[in-house]
Amino acid sequence: MTLTGLHLLLTYECTMECEHCFVWGSPKSSGTMSIAGVRSILRQAREMPGIEWIYFEGGEPFLHYPLLTAAVTESYEAGFKVGIVTNAYWATSIPDAVPWLQPIAGMVSDLSVSSDLFHSGDGDSQRSENAVAAARQLGMPVGVISIGDGAVMYRGRAAAKLVRGRPHQRWECFTTCPHETLAEPGRVHVDPFGNIHVCQGIVVGNLFNERLSRICAGFEPESHPVVGPLVRGGPAELVRRHAPAHDEAYADACHLCYNARTLLRERYPDVLAPDQMYGRFPGSG
Ligand code: SF4
Repeated sequence: MTLTGLHLLLTYECTMECEHCFVWGSPKSSGTMSIAGVRSILRQAREMPGIEWIYFEGGEPFLHYPLLTAAVTESYEAGFKVGIVTNAYWATSIPDAVPWLQPIAGMVSDLSVSSDLFHSGDGDSQRSENAVAAARQLGMPVGVISIGDGAVMYRGRAAAKLVRGRPHQRWECFTTCPHETLAEPGRVHVDPFGNIHVCQGIVVGNLFNERLSRICAGFEPESHPVVGPLVRGGPAELVRRHAPAHDEAYADACHLCYNARTLLRERYPDVLAPDQMYGRFPGSG
């Protein structure tokens, strides 16, 4: 595995519960990185010369603002390009958004503002626009990410909340993973517990237990119980290989994959983890 970027899930907590969220971000979720955890990840990333980018996302990373600013500063000073993904809940006006961004403005190469969260028509859509305007005032590279209806992938909360009424196809049709390069990922997500995810909820190692460089050097997709079948024949092969009970039809490849993985969690608890990625947190039932 030759990585060019690490996407740190700084926290699973979020101000929102978006229906399309892959990681089940929620005010009810839990799990936040410590600064010691961030430093360990940065030290390990520096051992791997191909890694250029460190992204901070979540959940909502601005919820832990002192941690975020320290992590951005230390990543930048270590020579990485830094990106942040945010829902801009903090951008109540342009003048009020500027002080949030000013301390990190010169160190961030990509601020990605998610706009989908604020399509409810309750006036909150203004916040993403405020964040973009404030970033532009400060000369920060900024973009808006929007998951239009046609681009929804039915994994995470979307697999539970958004599939009803959508066209379905028979499960045998989903013979490839359409969105991730699972055999040779260029970037991975690292969660607050050190889990390395090649897709949200598919863990290939834990960098608080074993060094990232060793995990990458030893990664054999074929021998991984979930990645192997997905590489060979997509979610349909995952179902054939492990034969979990399944419905006849699904909304897309991710819907089949996510449902099959949910059914396989007991068999592979270290690989299909943590609970947060499968919508299991205190109070979730
Ligand atoms: S098919 Fe599975 S592994 Fe591939 S992107 Fe969808 S959920 Fe992730």
